[in-house]
Amino acid sequence: MKKDIPFILAGNPNVGKSTVFNALTGLKQHTGNWSGKTVSLASGNFRYDGYRFILQDLPGTYSLISNSPEEEIARDAICFGDANFVLVVADATCLARNLNLLLQILEITPRVALCVNLLDEASRMDLSLDIPALERNLGIPVIGISAQKRQDIARLKAFLKTVAEKDFVTTPQHPVRYPVPIEDALSRILPSLEALNITRFHSRFLALKLLDNPPLGARLLDALSPASSQRIEICDAVASAQNLLVKQSIPDIRLRDMVVESLVKTAKSLTDSCVKRPEGSISAPRSIDRILTSRRFGIPIMLGFLGLLLWITISGANLPSSWLMEFFLWAKSYLYQFLSLLALPQQVLSLCLDGIYQTVAWVTAVMLPPMLIFFPLFTLLEDLGYLPRLAFNLDRCFKRVGSCGKQALTMCMGLGCNAVGVTGCRIITGKRERLAAMITNCFIPCNGRFSMLITLSGLFVGSIFYQGMQTVIAAVFLLFLIVCSVFVTLLVTGLLTRVFYQEEPAPFSLELPPFRRPRILQILVRSILDRTLHILWRAVRVSAPAGAIIWMMANVSWGDLSILAHCATFLDPFARLMGMDGMILLAFFLALPANETVLPILLMGYLASGEMIEATSLIALKGILVDHGWTILTSVNVMLFSILHFPCATTLLTIKKESGSLLWTGLGFLIPTVTAVLVCMTVTGVWHLITALC
Ligand code: GDP
Repeated sequence: MKKDIPFILAGNPNVGKSTVFNALTGLKQHTGNWSGKTVSLASGNFRYDGYRFILQDLPGTYSLISNSPEEEIARDAICFGDANFVLVVADATCLARNLNLLLQILEITPRVALCVNLLDEASRMDLSLDIPALERNLGIPVIGISAQKRQDIARLKAFLKTVAEKDFVTTPQHPVRYPVPIEDALSRILPSLEALNITRFHSRFLALKLLDNPPLGARLLDALSPASSQRIEICDAVASAQNLLVKQSIPDIRLRDMVVESLVKTAKSLTDSCVKRPEGSISAPRSIDRILTSRRFGIPIMLGFLGLLLWITISGANLPSSWLMEFFLWAKSYLYQFLSLLALPQQVLSLCLDGIYQTVAWVTAVMLPPMLIFFPLFTLLEDLGYLPRLAFNLDRCFKRVGSCGKQALTMCMGLGCNAVGVTGCRIITGKRERLAAMITNCFIPCNGRFSMLITLSGLFVGSIFYQGMQTVIAAVFLLFLIVCSVFVTLLVTGLLTRVFYQEEPAPFSLELPPFRRPRILQILVRSILDRTLHILWRAVRVSAPAGAIIWMMANVSWGDLSILAHCATFLDPFARLMGMDGMILLAFFLALPANETVLPILLMGYLASGEMIEATSLIALKGILVDHGWTILTSVNVMLFSILHFPCATTLLTIKKESGSLLWTGLGFLIPTVTAVLVCMTVTGVWHLITALC
């Protein structure tokens, strides 16, 4: 008979909590070397020696004092959840900061164990940790591990079992002692709480919250449903404690500062007693950080990195794309022979091959090679810890437009997937700041849109220049587009800030995590399996039915024209104003379920409505587009529209889920679309003006 042990995993951001969670449960939470990526609760379980451990991973948080969403989620789970105990994961390389959170959790409950992670990094930095001393000084079970080592995870499981067998009994030492006036104030409240017989958390914690965070204190009190006479008694005691503090000239803000100071002091003295560090100067990574985040070099270096990444992708993707096209064409003839054997009607054969197969083949040939190059490189930057530096460099710009600096972080998440970026907006405290960040997140081109941007900029923009420089020019142009998208994000955020709210942006601290040695194998596996194949599969799932729909629209006529031609003709006049054509606009609409399918759907539309040319290479693909009237202006507008237009259906659904408002979801569709239309019209107008003048 297995015994269920529910427990909570808590810790600062970037301490390896997701790594521990994944290693214990075998699940695949996203890990990355930056804070803020886990903003919701994940749960999983594992069995060990007769026990079933059910764990819940809290969002990473530095403290439990404020009312930010991640702190509230974490605090509520500890205070009101049904966990048997809390396992705090700490970073061995900066133990003092991590112990600060541990001490706050110990103020809530004694059922806490500590897992000091990243011991390998600590020993690389010549830090030596005395784990038994830490255990003695804290009075709770402590284990030291390197979460990436399998044997350490096995030790951790055995440790958890021991904690469970001891029935989570601990003898916490070193409770945090506050300055005398606060202790006196607490002792005025504590007697009034005795009658409540609180078991969920320490009554001292409730007393402190009633003083330093009254809304939370009231919520905790409500959860205990005190009788009205008890409530009156408690309120009187709190009022008396507050009077005492006022007499000692301790206003609310000072009170919180004093609480934090005491926590920091206790955490530091605990750390000093068990960590030995070498005498040393500034470490190399710190000096690298000074350059990477400096005012003068930060942004140029960031652009350089991104440009290099794009150039490598564009240079490397063309040839494999052409190979894949040839392969699919070759396979198509065999597939045709095979299906012919089944004696299928010609129309069905055409639907399968010219509709479904062809679109899926396009999706794969156009998307797979750039993704296979771009994603591992992007994941490498993420794993190294570069993304928070990128956010740090952009932080100033976001502050200037009146937004919250955390938006820079969520924007970086959007580079991977806009739906993830929108979910990430939970880390933004102000409701309206959060909504603005959600709506503008889709201006950042997600991974799914990159493949089309890479292909088009290589084919059109690169090719108008000197042969040897094609890929460099294409990469620089793409970089320019990304800079434009950041600029539009700032502009629209600034407008929303002025129109919808005038709140002061909330202060926040952005942690620059240490650079960590990237794990190449894991990067490859994660970028290929989790990202490339995941996105490709999503695109294939969408493009197969889309191909069938387009084929049917092209083959079912209404009057003289096919339905496809009717739709494209209807949209054409409007699309022309934006320097595109009706079929392009139609492809953007049909690709609403997944933005990555725009180009294949468009090609399918062109091929289905005109003569059936087979594209065997990217040059042939360009030929099809040029035959349908594409110029450099068309390609630039398509790329701009792709970057700025409405988000995909998944992102819209995520906005709906996160904002809980149809109005904001509608704005999430409308604002980007209007922006895209205006920008494309302006570019087209200016282009025509210049060509007329020349
Ligand atoms: P979380 O924010 O606490 O969930 O942290 P993650 O699990 O995402 O880990 C942050 C980074 O630290 C990732 O790059 C991990 O690969 C890395 N990491 C986690 N545990 C260890 C460890 O024991 N040793 C080393 N060297 N790196 C680790």
